[in-house]
Amino acid sequence: MTDFRESLKDKKRIVVKIGSSSLQHAQTGNLDYAKLDILVRELCDLRNQGKDVVLVTSGAIAVGKKAVQLSDKTDDNPIAVKQAYAAIGQARLMMTYQKIFAEYNQVAAQILMTKYTIVDNLNRFNARNTFAELFKLGVIPIVNENDTVATHEIEIGDNDTLSAIVASLVDADLLLLLSDIDGLYTDDPHNNPDARYIEVVEELTQELMEMGKKTTGSDSGTGGMNTKLQAAKIASSVGIDMVIANSNDVRNIRRILDGKNIGTLFVANVDEQFDLPLYVQQMHVR
Ligand code: GLU
Repeated sequence: MTDFRESLKDKKRIVVKIGSSSLQHAQTGNLDYAKLDILVRELCDLRNQGKDVVLVTSGAIAVGKKAVQLSDKTDDNPIAVKQAYAAIGQARLMMTYQKIFAEYNQVAAQILMTKYTIVDNLNRFNARNTFAELFKLGVIPIVNENDTVATHEIEIGDNDTLSAIVASLVDADLLLLLSDIDGLYTDDPHNNPDARYIEVVEELTQELMEMGKKTTGSDSGTGGMNTKLQAAKIASSVGIDMVIANSNDVRNIRRILDGKNIGTLFVANVDEQFDLPLYVQQMHVR
């Protein structure tokens, strides 16, 4: 295990994903600027070490909803309303990120993707080229799903999966999912006091994948353990290690890249048969 952790020190291209609930104050739903500031500083510091960094961030819908003062979560929100929130919130979210990245002399760019960015050959080719060019320029791409045109039921829908797709698209070395949990447990620790924490997963067994299906997501985002395990499956299949760690201290990013034993590490196992465009095309049809 120590060797797996040690190898994280050499990771050169890193995709970091942070979810909506990690970016907000739990009590008010407003953005947690102090946390955002530390997150951005950590990412800029990775760039300063010569690493390539991508940030996959949620929060568009949550921020948009706040901006128009709708704080109550209603389950019957029509998709169009969420898309309108996303249109408002994505711009606000980027404005906040741009401001903080600029404070650290870092240029950031926005990339909004849909399922078709991967499924369509020309779109995928273009997206890959854009990422490659941004890396050459030393710019940090900030990615979200293009919620204003994507319909959740038929699109990617959650940013855990999106981040794994992005990691695959850019040939990342490591995918880091920052979430409101410490990592993977043998059961839901909120309901089962005997749930055991797992430090490293060397093989994503069917049993583990089934276990994930029983968990639910948080209030703000869409990702529960199921989507995190789906992300691990994609990342692992294309040869990318993945870590799930708690976002309560975003300095965990540097600790993990220092080889510290934080979060659950999923060790990659390449699946030669894995075909990303085909996988994405068949998502939600399974
Ligand atoms: N793309 C959505 C947003 O930015 C969130 C998706 C997710 O929570 O995973 O609001």
